[in-house]
Amino acid sequence: MEAGHAAKNICLQVVALDLGTVVIGAFHDNEAKWIMTMTDRDRRCMAYQSEGNNIISRPTSGAICLPRGKKGAALYRLMRTLGGSFSAALGIRLSSASPRDTSKWLLASILFGARISEVVVIHTYREFEKTRVLSPKEILKTGWYGLVEILDRGGYVRYDFKTATKLLEVSSALLERYGGDLNNLHAEASDQKDLEERIQALGKGIGDVTVNIFLREMRGIWQKSRPLPSELVIRAARNIGIIPADLKERKKILGILKKKWADAGMKQRDFPDFEAALIRLGKDYCRKAACGRCPLREDCTDGGQA
Ligand code: SF4
Repeated sequence: MEAGHAAKNICLQVVALDLGTVVIGAFHDNEAKWIMTMTDRDRRCMAYQSEGNNIISRPTSGAICLPRGKKGAALYRLMRTLGGSFSAALGIRLSSASPRDTSKWLLASILFGARISEVVVIHTYREFEKTRVLSPKEILKTGWYGLVEILDRGGYVRYDFKTATKLLEVSSALLERYGGDLNNLHAEASDQKDLEERIQALGKGIGDVTVNIFLREMRGIWQKSRPLPSELVIRAARNIGIIPADLKERKKILGILKKKWADAGMKQRDFPDFEAALIRLGKDYCRKAACGRCPLREDCTDGGQA
């Protein structure tokens, strides 16, 4: 009973730190005592609990290509530990640019747009998947209360009301203006800037961050999708020495990132995987000053001080 309570508290703390944990309740008692060097006859091991980096947020579908050779050593470490696009992690196949998959990706981008952990977003998206509420029509049919319920089941409680309202507004604008197909929005946009403005105009709560998340993984799929790197990407790239510390111009930064990627023998088609890895590094480590557990610590030019 007490061990169960203690394990529950550890689980809560581990989730708050965005880590993962496993509770093990069945094992050979004597071997467990021996490993734990427990000599006291009256004491017993009731449960084991391991903690570490959360692997749920790692991509679950689609192969990640890894850079090879000396030039790509830091990129190799970055991609091996944090690489893979966010859409692939959710099993969304963006390469087909089908109306259903692009709608799914917009829904996921809206979820990712809030200051919330990737794990919670993945859980929440899975709830939308389970209930088959993924298209603008399905979202409208579900209604505000239904959406709040789905969001709460996924753990998206802090932003549930706001997000439900936003999803309804975006879905109805998408249906009215573009027949529910984001490809029509892209076709009508005159250039990158217009594309960004049209996505933002779908709903009041669609900000720069959400637009950047959405378009970043549409790069190479939609011809007009050429977003500049976000602050998190720049911060992470700077810290591991991929871009010069004093370079500010985002267009130039994008050029350097693309060149580094190509120099490591990587295809431009996979560039969103690289950006996603930098986002994870910036968001989950640099921004939290989590240098102690950072997988790129040995490559850090900032001396691991965040
Ligand atoms: S060691 Fe710290 S500053 Fe350097 S990349 Fe990692 S988290 Fe960022």
